[in-house]
Amino acid sequence: MVRTVGVLLPLPFDKPFDYTVDFAVQVGQIVEVPFGKEKQIGVVWSLEPTSELEQGKIKAIIKAFDFPPLKIEMLKFIKWVADYNMAPLGSVLKMVISVRSVFEPSPMTVLYTLSGKTLAEAKLKNSDARWHVMDLLKHAPYTRQEIAAGAGVSQGVIKPMIDAGVLVPIYVENKKEFTEPIGDYVKVDLTAEQIKAAELLCRKVGAGFSVTLLDGVTGSGKTEVYFEAVAKALEQDTQVLILVPEISLTAQWLRRFQSRFGVRPACWHSGLTVKERTDTWKAISEGRVKVVVGARSALFLPYTKLGLIVIDESHDHSYKQEDAVNYQGRDMAVVRAKIEHFPVILSTATPALETLVNVDEGKYDCVKLNSRYANAVLPDIKIIDIKKDKPQRGEWGVSWLTPTMVKALQNNLENGEQSVLFLNRRGYAPLLICRDCGHRIQCPSCSAWLTEHKNAHKLMCHHCGYVDDIPEVCPHCGSAEGLTACGPGVERVEEEVCMRFPTAKVDILSSDSATSFTALSKIIGKMERKEIDILIGTQIIAKGHHFPDLTLVGIVDADLGLMSSDLRAAEQTYQLLSQVAGRAGRSDKHGTVYVQTLHPENNVLKALLNNDRALFMDFEKESRQILHYPPYGKLAALIISGTNQQQTGAVAAAFGRTAPDTENISVLGPAPAPLFMLRDKYRYRLMLKTTRNINIQQVLREWQKMVKVPSSVRVEVDIDPYSFT
Ligand code: ADP
Ligand code: ZN
Ligand code: ZN
Repeated sequence: MVRTVGVLLPLPFDKPFDYTVDFAVQVGQIVEVPFGKEKQIGVVWSLEPTSELEQGKIKAIIKAFDFPPLKIEMLKFIKWVADYNMAPLGSVLKMVISVRSVFEPSPMTVLYTLSGKTLAEAKLKNSDARWHVMDLLKHAPYTRQEIAAGAGVSQGVIKPMIDAGVLVPIYVENKKEFTEPIGDYVKVDLTAEQIKAAELLCRKVGAGFSVTLLDGVTGSGKTEVYFEAVAKALEQDTQVLILVPEISLTAQWLRRFQSRFGVRPACWHSGLTVKERTDTWKAISEGRVKVVVGARSALFLPYTKLGLIVIDESHDHSYKQEDAVNYQGRDMAVVRAKIEHFPVILSTATPALETLVNVDEGKYDCVKLNSRYANAVLPDIKIIDIKKDKPQRGEWGVSWLTPTMVKALQNNLENGEQSVLFLNRRGYAPLLICRDCGHRIQCPSCSAWLTEHKNAHKLMCHHCGYVDDIPEVCPHCGSAEGLTACGPGVERVEEEVCMRFPTAKVDILSSDSATSFTALSKIIGKMERKEIDILIGTQIIAKGHHFPDLTLVGIVDADLGLMSSDLRAAEQTYQLLSQVAGRAGRSDKHGTVYVQTLHPENNVLKALLNNDRALFMDFEKESRQILHYPPYGKLAALIISGTNQQQTGAVAAAFGRTAPDTENISVLGPAPAPLFMLRDKYRYRLMLKTTRNINIQQVLREWQKMVKVPSSVRVEVDIDPYSFT
């Protein structure tokens, strides 16, 4: 019987397309269909037609793949994510069936088995060697190499048996095996405080939906504690997903997992090869992988039976995706857990304000670790006022390190201990300016300055990736001496450190030096082996690393993050500085953190100095409450972009004219975005703000209906935006 079904395709459409099918299919089944001139992979979304298209015009499904169908819960999740984030349904599906090669014919292994034909029937001589082969294959099929080894014969014995049809080939898919982690491989002796926390987390596993904040100071052993919950989930034979900020997928973390569970977990991040992706996706969809550690995209994998999600460093902004689909991975993980009835653990030393409010309101549970493991204590914080303790010029030029900082580094070097200098800025200098004519070198495609990268001998745009050579003379006035670097990046601090401490071993950790997992592991390894005395790094340095001999952390410019207009700027700076500070003094040696600032009276620094997160958060809560910012109100950004400035501006203006305006809903803008040009596109922004009781998506849908948008202009919606550029 031929029927018509709806198939959702991984393309930016909001609805499934109709196809006919003359074999049995299930909802969630992955199928191949014709689409335009191509073939597409899709998922059976409904067993009913979804349009009014006439029968004759509907094309037929080509075939169904031999994969477990996506579960109903997965389809629900896709729908929820699309609705909430106002993304096309198909774009969300694309994040699920992200690996095209999974659906291509996979490499096969050829095994041989007995056909039933005797040697006599095949007119082959009845030798001992041939009998060894026949004996071996009575038990199981093997490859030619395995037969040769197992029966102790040469290929010359086997080949005639195949040619004569005594042995016949069978083809099996070449599946990568994933060894299961062992829950009780090594039991760790937990401290009394850790045991209490672990017990509470373990009680949640298998007991339906819940969210628990594991709120522990840096170095308190949060990883060891949530590993207990992972072990519990393994005991119950469910899958576990551990989400980590992309870059902190370090060898260190993997080693700890391996020593606790005996094997490495499956990894999921952008650095995998196509083959690794294909193998992992298949194994997850067939339930052959038990533990996955991955970046936010791992949330969209087709687990068969997920029983726990752990979100490590849950405050990290890398969980928020700003791409084809804008979503907050941390929150979407909670949604997935709710749909599939399992617990989520949010692990961090610096929870997001939203998370703390959820705990206050009783929606999330919370368990605390108040002390560092073993003898380690939290580091001392010392604030340096740059206005009073001015950096002294050296023979190399401008200096970025205050005399106090230099002295502390000097002492630490003499004591043979390691130091970290933190500056959240890549490259050598964020701007090249001509002293003779005032010209500043700008990206040709963005409203942004180009950053000088001295090590790479290039100028780079950090927004669009544009790269150019460093000019010899000013491109505007031709002056040969005028071009001057403005401000420091990590490379410039490295230059100063090398001049001041010529014998010290110095290295840089940033996304330019740690371009891959291997490159990152190499630098971390050098740090662990004490082959680095002073490591200078961007925010990568903040994330989860554990260096026992690191006793000094210097924050070069604590004010940097506070300059942004982002509503989370203060919170994020607090989190970042606490995390960086938390790298110091993690074992028996005491740690000290020096913080350089122009504004020692700032709330962020006061809280850091007094280790008083609660006070800072109370202040943050109050200021967000007054402004009705999340989580006390809702926000959505509309970003209007296009190559034609006039058309783009006109669309933005039309959104402005039709903006909803009630007691509970207000709109800011349109205004040119701070990054007015990005990748040769003009950009305008509007900000929709509503009270909590309003369905902001509904408001947006109504609003969008009122404005006609030409195809050359793009309207992007960002629910609860993190970026305001
Ligand atoms: P956090 O994630 O809270 O910053 P970690 O889990 O990285 O802390 O723990 C800090 C260090 O202390 C790690 O080297 C870890 O192996 C060690 N540690 C923590 N708890 C224990 C324990 N119970 N037994 C042995 N080592 C522990
Ligand atoms: Zn000039
Ligand atoms: Zn650019």
